[in-house]
Amino acid sequence: MLEIDRACCAYGRVEVLHEVCLTVEQGEIVTLLGANGAGKTTLLRAISGICPLTGGEIRFEGERLDRVPAHRRVERGIAQVPEGRQIFTALSVADNLRLGAWRRADGAGTAQDLERVYQMFPVLAERRGSVAGGLSGGQQQMLAIGRALMGRPRLLLMDEPSMGLAPLLIDQVMATIVELKASGLTILLVEQNVSAALSIADRGYVLETGTVEIAGRAGDLMTNPDVASSYLGM
Ligand code: ATP
Repeated sequence: MLEIDRACCAYGRVEVLHEVCLTVEQGEIVTLLGANGAGKTTLLRAISGICPLTGGEIRFEGERLDRVPAHRRVERGIAQVPEGRQIFTALSVADNLRLGAWRRADGAGTAQDLERVYQMFPVLAERRGSVAGGLSGGQQQMLAIGRALMGRPRLLLMDEPSMGLAPLLIDQVMATIVELKASGLTILLVEQNVSAALSIADRGYVLETGTVEIAGRAGDLMTNPDVASSYLGM
């Protein structure tokens, strides 16, 4: 579904991704792991179009993606749940969700998707009229995911959804991601919480200073001694 082929990205003259190759097949959860500053967020930005490639190619569903403007990539079926959630705290829960559908013209479909999001996250339905800033961290994460779903994506890019959440809520977020996969979505998940991510992923990649150092099935990565010592604290 997604093919990243020798992608390079730079901020000014500083290249931070060096010929990264990565694939995501339809229906998979693929996790992207690595230390702070390894380039994980930059790779998501390259896919969503915020950070242009300085080399290489990205293809989505067989078509070249890296020359498509960012807003058109949303129409192609790619949505991002950004790091730190970035919800509009002064707006209501419902308005935050509606903003996720701002490019859509199909009112009936949008209303249906809103109901689906409320079914998936009943707490958002209960709080639909409340300002989003009053939600707990876990609820705000659900809102950020719900907002991304309102664009009816086929590929969801998630940047550290477990960040700042208590362990019980991390489990809930991971369970939600598994549910999203079961509903037919394909997911590329950036996580600092390596064990949580590998426990739900099909495959994973470890990025180190802008280069893919390790790639494999999630189960194999979990028992890989380099992954265990560097990222699982073993
Ligand atoms: P983290 O887990 O801390 O978010 P990351 O793996 O997502 O890390 P990136 O945020 O992609 O890493 O950063 C990769 C490199 O690019 C780092 O060296 C970072 O300092 C640098 N960088 C990130 N954003 C910018 C920017 N807007 N301008 C200049 N350099 C940047």
